[in-house]
Amino acid sequence: MTAPAPALAGRLREIVGVDGVLTDPADCAPFLVDHLGRCRGRAVAVVQPRSLAHVSQLLGLCDSERVGVVPHGGNTSYCGGAIPDDSGRQLVLSLKHLNRIRSVDVTNYSLTAEAGCILSQVQQAADAAGCFFPLSLGSQGSCQIGGNLSTNAGGVNVLRYGMMRDLVLGLEVVLPGGRVLEGLSSLRKDNTGYDIKSLFLGAEGTLGVITAATVKLFPQIRARATALVALPEVRAAVTLLGQLRAASGDRISSFELISRPALELATRHIPGVSDPFTAAHPWYLLCELSSARAAEPLDEVLEEALGAALTRATVLDAALVRSERERAALWKLRESIPEAQRHEGASLKHDISLPVAVLADFVTRAASWIGANVPDGRLVAYGHVGDGNLHFNISQSAGSDRERFLGRADSVRCAVHELVHEFGGSFSAEHGIGRLKVGELERYASPVELALMRAVKRAFDPHGIMNPGKVLREQ
Ligand SMILES: Cc1cc2nc3c(=O)[nH]c(=O)nc-3n(C[C@H](O)[C@H](O)[C@H](O)COP(=O)(O)OP(=O)(O)OC[C@H]3O[C@@H](n4cnc5c(N)ncnc54)[C@H](O)[C@@H]3O)c2cc1C
Repeated sequence: MTAPAPALAGRLREIVGVDGVLTDPADCAPFLVDHLGRCRGRAVAVVQPRSLAHVSQLLGLCDSERVGVVPHGGNTSYCGGAIPDDSGRQLVLSLKHLNRIRSVDVTNYSLTAEAGCILSQVQQAADAAGCFFPLSLGSQGSCQIGGNLSTNAGGVNVLRYGMMRDLVLGLEVVLPGGRVLEGLSSLRKDNTGYDIKSLFLGAEGTLGVITAATVKLFPQIRARATALVALPEVRAAVTLLGQLRAASGDRISSFELISRPALELATRHIPGVSDPFTAAHPWYLLCELSSARAAEPLDEVLEEALGAALTRATVLDAALVRSERERAALWKLRESIPEAQRHEGASLKHDISLPVAVLADFVTRAASWIGANVPDGRLVAYGHVGDGNLHFNISQSAGSDRERFLGRADSVRCAVHELVHEFGGSFSAEHGIGRLKVGELERYASPVELALMRAVKRAFDPHGIMNPGKVLREQ
């Protein structure tokens, strides 16, 4: 921590009160390191506003004093976007106290929440009103809706409902200088010029601070069918995706690929997680059909489709869920993979997406490159394969040297991302850019895209105070 200049500290306290400004190193520590311990920084203070007016006054002050502002949500992102740099001159702005559900409009199927609401709180508020909010992530108990909006989060229901961007109707945002964009519209149709709100979705706090959002709700899910399916190869997952979409009338909501090493990690390290099959298989798929109609016979549809796939040998085995307890166990298996990876040392993580049609060829090429070039690592791939999104991670092999393994990170990342590019994919499917992938964006975005992004940044934030150095390098 750097002690804030007394005048700045005093003015911050005038705005948010004494309790709203943290400067003690122990109090600030959790805001200065990301959840993986990969990004660390220092800050002039951590400020915790309690209202829109507070945020507006803070951004007015920081803009006139040219103090960088780092919005901080649940701190669960993978790219270090919520962590200040190490200059000690930036302010961390935590949204945790802006945590009210402002309204639920059942007639309009919409909900307005403040940015600091935890995602699970929003899901529960929707559920209590007899509706469904579909964004679902492994981090939903701690990530905030403001962070979800700012990273354009994806998760396990994208195939059916889209990413966060697709779920937003309106935003309330404070701009650098303190002006408020009052855009909490709940309209589904509004073709009135440029869609300004969409620029804040995925901007990772570089254009303004989101203080509230109106999001879409959907009818509650009343029927589900879930299965873990064993597959001989990735190509079978793509084949099954097409077959199941057709057979179920597009009722698939989740389609998650899990490699054998990923399943082994979860069963080895996470209590209560087990492999439902007696034999080992190279790949697995957690697939779920869902419907708002209780009477829909989804179990039959899934059983029939998987039976046909077994006959054609697309599928090697399948375990259909018969109770909510079994379903929870399968989802625990899938969602505990990131935690299980941490138990076995370091990992090199790549959040990539590819056109579904080339996914299998990509995995074959990339896996063979890893086999030949990363002797101390093994592929632990899993992800939202229905969206072409893979978490293409390489975990350190047992007994290997951690530092030597991590020393390969840059060359492995370059090789994987080059191959992704060759296959027409993206080096950042759902985790964003933050501070860790700024160089990758410069490498893979076209000059036209980069010039437009820089122009947008200048237009919204002429003094460059919003999350400096994230997404785009400081100019
Ligand atoms: C176990 C686990 C599973 C995950 N699964 C998924 C997944 O399936 N899909 C997925 O997409 N992600 C996933 N993530 C990543 C992460 O949870 C998401 O990126 C999430 O949206 C981040 O929200 P947050 O509140 O933690 O944001 P933070 O990490 O606090 O911040 C992320 C970025 O948003 C900015 N920001 C935060 N709040 C605001 C605001 N109010 N206004 C402006 N900018 C703001 C920050 O400055 C930062 O740049 C997972 C993470 C974990 C740990």
